[in-house]
Amino acid sequence: MQPVTVGTAKASPGETARGVIPAGRDFDGPIEIPVIVVRGTRDGPVLWIDGATHGDEAEGSITCWNLAKEVDAKGLAGTLVLVPILNLAAAKNGSRGNPLDHVNYDLNRVYPGKPNGRGTERLAWAYYQEFAPKADIVISLHSGGSVGYMSRVIYHNDIPASLELAKAFGVGWDLIVEPAYSVDRRPATGTIEAVSGANGKPALVVELGGLSESLPDKLLQNSRSLTDGCVNLMRYLKMLPGKVERNGRWKLAREWIVQTGTGGFWLPDSAFRFRKSVKEGTVLARVVDTYGETLEEIKAPCDGETIGMRTTPYVGLPGDHCVFFAEILNEVTE
Ligand SMILES: [Zn+2]
Repeated sequence: MQPVTVGTAKASPGETARGVIPAGRDFDGPIEIPVIVVRGTRDGPVLWIDGATHGDEAEGSITCWNLAKEVDAKGLAGTLVLVPILNLAAAKNGSRGNPLDHVNYDLNRVYPGKPNGRGTERLAWAYYQEFAPKADIVISLHSGGSVGYMSRVIYHNDIPASLELAKAFGVGWDLIVEPAYSVDRRPATGTIEAVSGANGKPALVVELGGLSESLPDKLLQNSRSLTDGCVNLMRYLKMLPGKVERNGRWKLAREWIVQTGTGGFWLPDSAFRFRKSVKEGTVLARVVDTYGETLEEIKAPCDGETIGMRTTPYVGLPGDHCVFFAEILNEVTE
């Protein structure tokens, strides 16, 4: 078996290696993406897991560190590539994107990036050069961050195998959502799952957490849940020994992003609950003015369930997101 090299990290069979993916040069030194390569001792897939695409989503980073400690290269089949903090410039600032890049702020909208683009596009390009040819499966870990609180949701891509991979995340991960849409109902472009799909590779975006759950016990609990999901997936892929836990029942859904038509204060309805089935037109929240008078009712766009919400009650921007809503298309059991 050959060593596996990602950036400067080179791991021989049975070894774990650390290194960086070079991504350019900054004022004060190199721009780098930290990477950990866990090379197994038997044949198997290259599973690539990243965290902190968005620099305000810490759960993915903790999950990568957990996996680096807990997965023994000698007992592994295939290769596990861990990227704990993909967007370091954003993470240093605790923000979704690099605060210095005013044009292409969201890394997960600019893939595959450009070698001669702006900062975030260059970061995407450097990263894409590594994962696109080397990863068999990409799992991008997200958690809502400062903009949204998210239920446990897995988004798959256009490759059919990705739906089966989503089902392998284990108990409690019962909501699987179609490839993401943008607010105007067009397929979201420039995402890591979309470019992976275009290359024929399955990819998942896993969401759990957000600012509302950044208190220490919740942060660690959500990171543990993500870690356990990744371990279960690795058992499903026969990369690790052990019993594969199955939820056994899944809701397959399409996501709607519910916007406001006005700025104001977002005041949830007292009956608002996550993952509660509601009918189309149910009032989820109201946007009120500075005197508390209703400007707009935020309603369920169809029958379904709320799976996410904005974290900040103040809506400064008409058209801003308020609710992430799942239209349930099908329920499957096994
Ligand atoms: Zn994110």
